[in-house]
Amino acid sequence: MLHLQNFVNGTFQAPTSGAYLPNINPATGEVYSQIPDSDERDVQAAVEAAQAAFPAWAALSAEKRGRFLIKLSELIDRDLERLAEAETTDNGKPLSLSRTVDIPRASSNLYFFGTGVQHFASEAHHMEGVAVNYTVRKPLGVVACISPWNLPLYLFTWKIAPALAAGNCVVAKPSEITPYTAHLLAELCVEAGLPAGVLNIVHGTGPKVGAAMCEHPEVKAISFTGGTQTGKTIARATAPMFKKLSLELGGKNATVIFADCDFEKTVATAVQAAFANQGQICLCGSRILVERSLYARFKAAFLEKVENLTVGDPLEAGSNMGALVSAAHLQKVQQYIALAQEEGGTLLTGGERVHLQGRCANGYFLQPTVFENLPHTCRTNTEEIFGPVVTLMPFDTEEEALTYANHTQYGLAASVWTQDLTRAHRVAHALQAGIVWVNTWLLRDLRTPFGGTKQSGVGREGGWEALRFFTEPQNVCVKL
Ligand code: NAD
Repeated sequence: MLHLQNFVNGTFQAPTSGAYLPNINPATGEVYSQIPDSDERDVQAAVEAAQAAFPAWAALSAEKRGRFLIKLSELIDRDLERLAEAETTDNGKPLSLSRTVDIPRASSNLYFFGTGVQHFASEAHHMEGVAVNYTVRKPLGVVACISPWNLPLYLFTWKIAPALAAGNCVVAKPSEITPYTAHLLAELCVEAGLPAGVLNIVHGTGPKVGAAMCEHPEVKAISFTGGTQTGKTIARATAPMFKKLSLELGGKNATVIFADCDFEKTVATAVQAAFANQGQICLCGSRILVERSLYARFKAAFLEKVENLTVGDPLEAGSNMGALVSAAHLQKVQQYIALAQEEGGTLLTGGERVHLQGRCANGYFLQPTVFENLPHTCRTNTEEIFGPVVTLMPFDTEEEALTYANHTQYGLAASVWTQDLTRAHRVAHALQAGIVWVNTWLLRDLRTPFGGTKQSGVGREGGWEALRFFTEPQNVCVKL
């Protein structure tokens, strides 16, 4: 059986403990590989390797560093099929999604920052006739990148690329639930000739490996994407050490639909926003708010489309939805379905586990599930489910829609559907969310600030925001 290895100082290494954890294919329920059950000793070795590599890496020109990242992006493009299959095997998502979204985006992340860093400049502030200030942006040193299971290589590279481009050396940990493509990326780093120790990947659990990375005194910044509770743990552990933190956390996003929307486009995208990646995207629109005059028509059209979604073997081209990522996560989502019923919700469609035939007979499949008749204040409507479960809610006025949309501790994303230009802007500005889409969803420009407000996170990723996060500004004031 395949045993993944840590990637430390440019070499593949077994965990110091000698212990491994099973890695399960969620579409079949079978253990198909073993991953290192690493601990603080492996983190220590990785930090030391990163520290040793840092001076030479930081001294390279931005162009030279950028070229390594561009090379990696080209290797990802070359290996698209292999990486897409690996992602689907690890995560359960449809192969079509891995092939068209996850892996191409991983390549784009590396390409984007590999080229972008060459245009990264710092500011100068001229005090007329008195002095000139200029800002030097220095890499931080060793930084940690910790990513979740829902978009494995996509989010792993989204962190690593700007960290490396800015001149830092990285100790990274993919989710222990989906470690495979990070392992394959390490192989590509060797092929790309990335200097040893510049990127180190330590596999294992959050409480052991992730915590050791965050608490290590030589790790200067942590870029984390994952759950809000884990974000709180990291913030608590690192606050006394004054580390820089970028936290991209949970969401409970609203899709706000007005009666004057482009109906067909709205229904089609609302379905996609609800159930793409089995509803396991932090940006998924899980609360669908519809103006009352359109509610009945929207509900009928939405349910028709949802019932036409095919839940199936993620390797089959016709599958719109694959497996949930793990047995534990399936159980969590099922508990929310039970909760929605306890809270008085009306189940409109779905709610049941899907039992497939053949190789996927033991996979973690769930029907796309839609509820209505739940108050905007209930747990189902305020807590992150992170699965294929959504609610429909009618509203009468714009104010009411905003009250519903903003009634959650999260503030990651939202989408607004209307043909009224003024209203679109007004509502967008009043939504408590870091990202608002108008008449679209998940359209991404990598230059824009990405992240959430409230309990959805601290800081922003993307573009200059990420390069600024991964650098320390120093002002030099020169008297004229
Ligand atoms: P998680 O918080 O359980 O794990 C994320 C990562 O953190 C994993 O690598 C895990 O091993 C590690 N980790 C766990 N405990 C740790 C600790 N004490 N110290 C350091 N690291 C630790 O999240 P998950 O279940 O993998 O992912 C799902 C969550 O991620 C959802 O809440 C989702 O909304 C969120 N998410 C947010 C974004 C965003 O951009 N805002 C994007 C994707 C996913």
